[in-house]
This record gives sequence, C-alpha cells and structure tokens, in this order.
Amino acid sequence: MQVMIIQLNVFQALYIMVRKEPEEIMKHKSSLLKYQGYIFDLDGTIYLSNRLLAKADQVIEFLEALEKKVIFLSNKPIESRANYADKLNKMGINVTIDNIINSSLVTALCIQQEKPRAVVYVIGEPPLVHELEAAGLTVTKDPLKAEFLVAAFDRTFHYNKLNDAMIALRNGARYFATNPDKTCPIDGGEIPDCAGMMGAIEGVTGKRPELICGKPSPQMLAAALKQLQLSADQCLMVGDRLETDIQMGINLKIDTALVLTGITTLKSLEQSSIKPTYVLKSVADFLERH
Ligand SMILES: [Mg+2]
Repeated sequence: MQVMIIQLNVFQALYIMVRKEPEEIMKHKSSLLKYQGYIFDLDGTIYLSNRLLAKADQVIEFLEALEKKVIFLSNKPIESRANYADKLNKMGINVTIDNIINSSLVTALCIQQEKPRAVVYVIGEPPLVHELEAAGLTVTKDPLKAEFLVAAFDRTFHYNKLNDAMIALRNGARYFATNPDKTCPIDGGEIPDCAGMMGAIEGVTGKRPELICGKPSPQMLAAALKQLQLSADQCLMVGDRLETDIQMGINLKIDTALVLTGITTLKSLEQSSIKPTYVLKSVADFLERH
C-alpha cells in the first residue's frame, strides 16, 4: 500500500512539473479523447513482450466504441503484419492486418513509389520478402540484377550477404533500410537489430541508406495517416520512446502522448529536449478521464 502511495506522488509531481497547474493538467487529460484517430506504438505501449499492458484491451475497445479509428505501428521487420494481428487478437484486441503498419510494409510502399516492379536484393527475413513481393516488387538473389538493396533486421545475416550488398551498391543499386534501431528488446535482454547490418555495409562500402523507412521517418507516419484517411491534426501518436514515437509525431505536427510503461523513465523525460503533448502513466489513462 505504501508503494502505491509513493508512486502516485511521483506521478503527481511529474504532472505538476510538465504542466504546472493541476487544473490545466485535468483539462489536458480530458482533451485526450478529442482526436478522431489514435496511432499506437506496440512494444512498451500496448504490451511488453507477451504481456498485455495496463488494460490496453479495454482502452482499444473504449476508443472503438467512441467510433475512433485506431492503428498500430511497429519497426520490427521480422514479424509479418498477420503475426501482429494474431498476437493482438489473442490478447483480446480485435484487429486485422489493415490496422497494422510495420517497417516492412512502409519499405515496400516507398520502393514501389520510386519504381513499381523494381528488382530488390534483400538482407532480411521471409516476412519482409513476402511484403516486398506483395507490393509487386521482384526479390532477387543476384546482386548484379538489383535496382535496390534493402537492409533489415536479419538473424540470418552472414558474410555472403554482406559481399552481395557490396556488389549491388558498387553496381549502382539504390539503398534503403527498414528501421534505425540498434537493438531489439527480448525477454531477458536485447539482440542486434537493423543498425548492425547497416553498420557492416557502411564499414565495407562507406554508404548509408538514402532512406530508413521505419520510425521516426515521416514516411511511416504518413502511411498510418493514409490508412486512417485522416489528417495530422485529427490524430494522436501514443508511444513509449521519445526519440522515435514522440519525435516522429513532433516532426509531422501530430499531437503526442508519452506512456511511462516502456523505455522512458521520469528521469530520461526530464533530461530530454523532446517534449510530448501529454505524459501518461499508461494507456489506462484514456479510461480514467471517462
Ligand atoms: Mg515501443
């Protein structure tokens, strides 16, 4: 019981620190429901690994009952959108793949926009390859045929792929990557993410991708807005990372809500120059105002 009281005081202090006046805090929190579209990060916001966070299922149901549109974003290219939809459905959140935007989809859309039916060499796993093919792109194993090189989080990365990437770039292929993350959190720690593959490619070619499609790229959020068929001022971006979720919202002039259930602590928020529109203990704050 004592712990709960201490936690409440810390959050009260936070609200006062961020918004100064309690009445103003109340007003701000009540305006959480003024948007027509809600864009949620997944890990650290809706769930932590396989554990649903803070009544997230009830929050989504509540927003949908108010006829709000909801979409979920993930930077991870190693899972298909169908996998994400399944995972959320099993957690009691009713979604289809149309409610999911991940970095694989955005990479496919960005290349398709540059050159429909382009030939692509992929450093990545099967879900990414399937997403690229579903967008009408041709995936090749021959680096000399590649018009684009795509680098992604790839747990099957090896020397031959690095060699092929070098050949493709020397032969004039354009270079995109799925996501900028250095590591990916897993139970009990973290594993190397897409930045590791980009670092290896840069080490041997000196080249960085011309576009990194996942958060915090404007392309990722633009894909979400397009799917929602809403404009930036009609939506709220909700996430746990200041430098991706919140920065991306700020860049596109979308209001943002930081949740403290993931990577960001009160201390890191205080030390950061990136400031969200709202600070929430968790997504359950959406229910609290009702
Ligand atoms: Mg997150």
